[in-house]
Amino acid sequence: MQLAVNPRLSERIDWLFDWLYPPRCRACRGRIFGPDAECFCASCRAHVQLVGHPLCQVCGRPYPDGSGDDHTCGVCLDRPPRFVAARAWACYPREDDHPLRLVVQKFKYSRKVSLGKPLGRLLALGCEEFLAGLNADLIVPVPLYPKRLRWRGFNQSLLLGREVSRAYGIPMDPFVLLRRRETAAQTQLAEDERRRNVRGAFELNAERSVKGKCVLLIDDVYTSGATVNECSRTLKQGGAKAVYVLTLARAVY
Ligand SMILES: [Zn+2]
Ligand SMILES: [Zn+2]
Repeated sequence: MQLAVNPRLSERIDWLFDWLYPPRCRACRGRIFGPDAECFCASCRAHVQLVGHPLCQVCGRPYPDGSGDDHTCGVCLDRPPRFVAARAWACYPREDDHPLRLVVQKFKYSRKVSLGKPLGRLLALGCEEFLAGLNADLIVPVPLYPKRLRWRGFNQSLLLGREVSRAYGIPMDPFVLLRRRETAAQTQLAEDERRRNVRGAFELNAERSVKGKCVLLIDDVYTSGATVNECSRTLKQGGAKAVYVLTLARAVY
């Protein structure tokens, strides 16, 4: 038997619920009114700068002066990555108290699994321009080493990927890439050390095939691109036709 709820009653219940438990900003805990209701208050949201044009059409780095056309940056010209293009939802500055940094750190290091859905939605809706024209066959989240996965209890890239998968109807397979060895945290390493650190860190699951497929790789933060580039190399070696990269945040320092 289905329970029919009067829509006006259901609205009132929602209103009462919001009044009793007002939504709180995930960065500053302040009250939330209006859009992005599940993540940021208006004041924190105003500090989150979305990645816009002009940018490097390969690695997705936004150009700070905000003028001119998209063009390939010097880093990508010097050392072309293995992926076709990478894009991110928002810029990730270095300041410790930046709202996006606070939220990402709560998600990853304070193990707030509940942030997966709202952040994944921001990513899926905010990167529509990139995602709608992609024709990806498969979403692959960057895998964690089993020890880190056990500590955190979830793979943050998988939770982000799930929302993109739902929004665009692209299947996700979290078992395509496996992390072969544990790598040192990348945060304190210089760029060439990061590349060496992740070299050979991933392998393709022998029970999966990516031959001829267009793969969308998902991660939380793009810093030097070393990790997603190494994943892309592994996917291309396995016969992937093309690899694209999507991350929630993009370091801009
Ligand atoms: Zn806030
Ligand atoms: Zn670039």
